[in-house]
Amino acid sequence: MKKVGFFKSIHFKFVVVYILLILIAMQVIGVLFMDRQEQKLRENFTKNIDENADMIEVNVEEELENILTQSDKEAPQERLSSLLQDFSFTFSDIDKMMVVNLDQQIIAADDEDLVGKKSTQNLISQALLGHSTNDIFQIEDGDQLVRTYVVSKPVRSAQNGQLLGALYLEASIEDIYGLSRTLNEILANATIIALAITALLGIVLASTITRPLADMQKQAQVMARGDFTRKVKVYDKDEIGQLAASFNDLTKKLQEANEITESERTKLRSVLSYMTDGVIATDRDGFIILMNDRSEEMLSMSRHEAMGRYLPEVLGIEKDFSIDKLEESSNSLILDYSSHEVPFILRASFSVIQKDDGPVNGIITVLHDVTEQEQIERERREFVSNVSHELRTPLTTMRSYLEALEEGAMQDENLAPKFLSVTQQETERMIRLVTDLLQLSKMDNKDFRPNFQKVNLRELMLQVIDRFEMSKSDQITFEKHISDKPLPVRIDRDKITQVLDNIISNALKYSPDGGKVTFHLNKDGKSVHISIKDEGVGIPKQNLSKIFDRFYRVDKARSREIGGTGLGLAIAKEVVIAHNGQIWAESEYGKGTTIHVKLPTHQTREASA
Ligand code: ADP
Repeated sequence: MKKVGFFKSIHFKFVVVYILLILIAMQVIGVLFMDRQEQKLRENFTKNIDENADMIEVNVEEELENILTQSDKEAPQERLSSLLQDFSFTFSDIDKMMVVNLDQQIIAADDEDLVGKKSTQNLISQALLGHSTNDIFQIEDGDQLVRTYVVSKPVRSAQNGQLLGALYLEASIEDIYGLSRTLNEILANATIIALAITALLGIVLASTITRPLADMQKQAQVMARGDFTRKVKVYDKDEIGQLAASFNDLTKKLQEANEITESERTKLRSVLSYMTDGVIATDRDGFIILMNDRSEEMLSMSRHEAMGRYLPEVLGIEKDFSIDKLEESSNSLILDYSSHEVPFILRASFSVIQKDDGPVNGIITVLHDVTEQEQIERERREFVSNVSHELRTPLTTMRSYLEALEEGAMQDENLAPKFLSVTQQETERMIRLVTDLLQLSKMDNKDFRPNFQKVNLRELMLQVIDRFEMSKSDQITFEKHISDKPLPVRIDRDKITQVLDNIISNALKYSPDGGKVTFHLNKDGKSVHISIKDEGVGIPKQNLSKIFDRFYRVDKARSREIGGTGLGLAIAKEVVIAHNGQIWAESEYGKGTTIHVKLPTHQTREASA
């Protein structure tokens, strides 16, 4: 997270707010207080001057009376002047005192130079007309203006009220303003000191709020990285302390929730990765957001490659299906990924991720490997069609011969026995086929168990070979490499006899005249190894593995002609497998074929059961 700049921090804001509050408070107090203070000082000053003026007036009036009456022996005018000088000492605030007679002549003043001069002052003229003036004026003193309180008042006789002259006083009020200025300066200094203290206090106070907040911010950052072990320190029980406590509580709950989610996720991950089915999840637009290990294997595509790709494209069905179509279809799809060599068929089932009737949030696709099922189903269909075909062929042949007999061949002495013999052969072939099918069907049954008994395989094999030796044509020779010692084994005598019959009859069937059939029988550790080799037509390499499949024939026409059902080796394989043995073929096309059978000498208890 970006660090908060100092000027944007709460810390700074707090300090600014404190300072502004103090500043405003000081300013308001200062303005109100100074105004009041100045007014009060001015009032006191003027009141004092007024009282002094009244006192001077009383004395001046007395002296002016004397001047008029000339009652006193001493020169009254001089007495008046000395009176004013005395007063100027007593009332040091008064800067100028003048007494003017009715002719506007200055008859006494604290400044002797003025005495005898004529006053031209308007205020004095006004006073001589009976108007008093008490006001502040700006009076020039040299080159500067001085605020001065001026009192100009008429002096009347105390006895008859007759106007005797005028009294004029000036008192500079600048000192009052000076005092007020000094107070202002003191207040300004006090404000600066208060602001400095406030700023310091603000920093300390703000830190008590911002410290827990910064702590919580740090905690939130650590939590975002997945670490829930850290705790916020609770400094106090105030609101911020409660917030810190709630924050710690929240951290704990979040940790618990996180642990639950994590364990659920681990469970889900392990379930998904151990699932035998592939699971793919997409977002609402059909882009892959999750896939398990099995689906990676099934689609031969790494998660890294598939993530974020369009599901129908990954499944290779984008031409026929859009994601909306898959959402709507409730049926599953069969996806055939088989190659020439390996069959691989998947069934894909789709279900939408949707809460109640809310919007579709994605699709879950489950991929199930149905190769085996599909193969079984395919084989079953093939088997039914093969059986039908195999039965139809002899039946059709028989029908045509029977029709021919019915239509007159019966009366033909030469044809009739021939035709009857063919129908008999076909009937026998059908019986053989049905017998073989029944036998295979019995062995396909889950409950089928070979009837194990102790048999001397050497003796059994020689018996079978002898039987064939008697019926074979003289053109074919037998070569036997059978061990002299008895070979006791636990086998199903009839079933193994049939295996040998099927293999030997094939060797004879596919051997040309003059061919040799070689028999080997020997013990190989805990098993016996039988091999029957002929010098017949052989089997092409590509068909070798298929000759044990039901109804498989390398050369169909020839095999049928020879009377084969295509089930001989399939039965042999089932019998050998039921004996826990192995059967395989080796062949060189045109040179001959060897069929190998390996059987265990003893059956385990389970196999026997
Ligand atoms: P069939 O009854 O047709 O012989 P089998 O299951 O016994 O059926 O054999 C399957 C096919 O394997 C035969 O059709 C034949 O093409 C081939 N085959 C089996 N044994 C031999 C052999 N010894 N030499 C050549 N081909 C053989």
